[in-house]
Amino acid sequence: MTDPVVVIGGGLAGLAAAARLAKAGHQVELYERSETLGGTWAPYRLASSAMADNAPSILGFPAPWRDLFRKSGRPLEAELARMGYVLEPAQPAEMIFADGTDLTLPTDRGGQYDTLAAAYGDSVAERWRALLDRLDKVWQTLRGLGLEAELRSARQLNRSVKRNLFGHRMTLADLASSINHDHLGAVIRSIGYRSGSVPEQTPAFAAVELSMQRTFGRWQVQPLNPGSKLDVGRSSVLVEALAARLELRKVRIHLGCPVERIQLRNGHVTAVATSEGDRPASAVIATGDPWQTFHDLLSTAPARRTRGQLRGLSPAAAPTITHQEVPTPTALLRERVALSEVGVPTVSYLRQLADNGLRTTHDFNHTLPRPSYGVAWNGFESWLRRPSVTTEVPGLYTASPSSPAGAGPSQVVLSAALAAYSCHEYLRAGA
Ligand SMILES: Cc1cc2nc3c(=O)[nH]c(=O)nc-3n(C[C@H](O)[C@H](O)[C@H](O)COP(=O)(O)OP(=O)(O)OC[C@H]3O[C@@H](n4cnc5c(N)ncnc54)[C@H](O)[C@@H]3O)c2cc1C
Repeated sequence: MTDPVVVIGGGLAGLAAAARLAKAGHQVELYERSETLGGTWAPYRLASSAMADNAPSILGFPAPWRDLFRKSGRPLEAELARMGYVLEPAQPAEMIFADGTDLTLPTDRGGQYDTLAAAYGDSVAERWRALLDRLDKVWQTLRGLGLEAELRSARQLNRSVKRNLFGHRMTLADLASSINHDHLGAVIRSIGYRSGSVPEQTPAFAAVELSMQRTFGRWQVQPLNPGSKLDVGRSSVLVEALAARLELRKVRIHLGCPVERIQLRNGHVTAVATSEGDRPASAVIATGDPWQTFHDLLSTAPARRTRGQLRGLSPAAAPTITHQEVPTPTALLRERVALSEVGVPTVSYLRQLADNGLRTTHDFNHTLPRPSYGVAWNGFESWLRRPSVTTEVPGLYTASPSSPAGAGPSQVVLSAALAAYSCHEYLRAGA
C-alpha cells in the first residue's frame, strides 16, 4: 500500500485540498495544530452562545466553491440544502465616504452606470464603465496565471501579458488617481487595504476585484427556510460542509497535532515529524504560512530559491475584527463600508441571528501583520516572489493565501485545487 498524502493545516486551503485528493482515490491524513477545523474561518460561540466567525459574510466568485463541492462528491447546493442552507445573491454594499455621503453600487453593468450617472453625472459613469471593461480583460489574462493554471515563472509574463495587466509599474494608487474622482478613487484604493497592503505598493491589476464582482456578483449563505433559527451570512457553514465531506471521504484528521518537520530522502518528501511521532508521506500539501513551511519545517539545503524569494516579502496586514450583538436588523444581511479619505475601509456586516442581530466589524484602520491574510504587495515583482504551488522540492506542494492566485477566500480554494491536481499527477507518475 502506498503511503498517505499528508495535508498540513485544516483551514480553507487544507480542507479543500484534502477533499479533492480523497475523492481522487488517495489516502489522506490531515494534521491541524489547533483543536478545531477551519483556520481563520473556524466558527465559535460568543459569550451569549450565538455562533460567530471571522469570515466575510459576503462571498464573491462562487465558481471555485461550486467546483470544489462538485469534484469532491456532491454539488454545493445539495450539500447546503442538506444542512438547511442556500447560497443566495446578496444586496450591494452601502459605501459611506469621508465627506458623509453614501453610495450603494449595484453589481450589474447597467445598474452601475445608472447609479453613478444619477449620483455624479454621465461622464463619471462612463469613465467607471470603461475602467471596468478594461478590468474584464485583466481578468481574462489573470485566469491562467495562478488561478486556473499555475504561475511558475517570469517567462509566463511576456510583453503582451504585462501590457494587459497595466504594465509592471502602474500601481493601484495610480489607477485610483486616473479615475479623477474622490469617491471612486477611494473605492479603488480600498482594494489594496482590503488585501492587507497599501495601494502605493499594490499593482494596478489587483483592481480586477471590481470586474469579478460585476461578473460573478455577491453571495451570502442563508437558511433555506427563512423562518428557521439558522444563521444568516455565517460563511463558516461552508467549513462545516467541507469537514463533513472529509468525514465521508474517510480523511484521517489529527487535531491538536502540529507537523514539526517535513522529512526528505534523496531530495523527495518521504515523511513528516508530528507531535505524535513520525508518519510516512508519499507527498505533502503545506497550507501554513510560507515562512514556517520553508524555514521551520524544511532543513536548510532544499528550497534555497524559495527561501531567497521570501526575503522580499512580509505578511499582509489583517484587520481587527469585533462582534457586537444588536437588536434584530430589518434586512437579513447588510454590508456597510466606511471609507476614509484615502480609502482605508471599515467593513461592517449586520446580520440576523436566531433571536437578535450581530454586527461584525473588520477594521482596517487597526491592523496587525498576519500570514493568514497572505503576503503584502511590494510592487509587481513581489507577485513572482510568492511561493509557487508546485515547489522545487519533489512531492511538496503549497496552497495558501500567499499563493500567486491571491489571498481572497475563493483564490485560496483555487490554489488548493491546483495543489491537489499537481500532487495527483506526481503520485500517478511515481506509481
Ligand atoms: C479581499 C480579502 C478578504 C479576506 N477576508 C477575510 C476574512 O474576512 N476573514 C478571514 O479570516 N480571512 C480573510 N482573508 C484571508 C484569507 O482568505 C483567509 O484567511 C483564508 O481562510 C486563509 O485560509 P488558509 O487555510 O490558507 O489559512 P488559515 O485559515 O490560516 O489556516 C491554516 C491552518 O493551518 C494550521 N497550521 C499551521 N501550521 C501548522 C502545522 N505546522 N501543523 C498543523 N497545522 C498547522 C493552522 O492552525 C490553521 O488552522 C481575506 C483575504 C482577502 C484578500
